[in-house]
Amino acid sequence: MNGRIKLSSFIEIKDLNKQYMSAAEVPILALRNLNLEVAENEIVTIMGPSGCGKTTLLTMLGGIASPTSGFIRVGNYYLTSPEMMSRIFSSATHTEYRQKSVGFIFQLHNLSPIHTALENVELPLIFASVPREVRKKRAKELLEQVGLANRITHRPDALSGGERQRVAVATAFANNPSLILADEPTGELDSENSRMICELFLELKKRNNFTMILVTHDPKVAAIGDRVLEMRDGAIRGEIPKETVRTLTPSSQESKESSRQFPFPPKFCGACGSNSIILPKTETRSGFWTEASGKRIYYELRFAQCVQCGQVFWQPTNIDIES
Ligand code: ADP
Ligand code: MG
Repeated sequence: MNGRIKLSSFIEIKDLNKQYMSAAEVPILALRNLNLEVAENEIVTIMGPSGCGKTTLLTMLGGIASPTSGFIRVGNYYLTSPEMMSRIFSSATHTEYRQKSVGFIFQLHNLSPIHTALENVELPLIFASVPREVRKKRAKELLEQVGLANRITHRPDALSGGERQRVAVATAFANNPSLILADEPTGELDSENSRMICELFLELKKRNNFTMILVTHDPKVAAIGDRVLEMRDGAIRGEIPKETVRTLTPSSQESKESSRQFPFPPKFCGACGSNSIILPKTETRSGFWTEASGKRIYYELRFAQCVQCGQVFWQPTNIDIES
């Protein structure tokens, strides 16, 4: 590439634009000439109103969706416009980037309900073809690091919200990625669990090298960033001084949005923003028993999967209750 690119920054984004088409064919400019540079090992937090393009920015950085125009480099990976992408990037390199260089953490944990904590952490390692023994050892170590050594055989329904999110953090770190993208990771947690997740990030930082982009509405969470940036109308508008961040009040708008019931299969993949979600050809169903308030409850689940990023979606279809 040319001398314009400063390799000193780990992430470099120049004049990034992303245009979506609404259902009524009206163009929506989700990102507008966005510029951003992030140093290696930096934690950058981004705050901004709902709809300002935060999730869109993370999907571009994750190499999951491509920008309409502009330039993105993450380390040695050039994630640019679709034309550039097909020239620079073989699709194998692209898959390698998504699977090994980036870890995602979402507001809703996205764990598979039928797998144990250990198996959930193993899933990204299976996709990255890590041999069984190495994989099991790595998954165990990670669950220890997130403080869940005694929960490895529990399935998500047997874990608390905070514990589930810690499994999700372990899953994101499975392939030892150099970039962690966290989209409202504490949006569904109470303040005590949010604090624990923040402490966990800082603890993981001491032992691992990674750069992190953390989107949040919670000023307390934002305060863990080396820098706190304000995003509005599809672009980074500036830095919010740390002293100011601490005096802000949290907005709960994003949490309210996420608790809305989605149609099944979902229209868009919450993980990557693509709309190519498929139901398996022969409908796979699977169920599990759980217990709540002294009642045994049976959930039968339907599954769907995103073609782009492999995210699995599930929804209970039949629910039986035995008192
Ligand atoms: P934020 O994460 O800040 O709430 P998003 O990045 O999700 O914002 O969305 C930015 C804008 O782009 C919003 O107007 C949203 O409705 C729109 N948008 C996001 N994803 C899609 C999509 N797949 N198709 C159409 N419009 C989208
Ligand atoms: Mg969002």
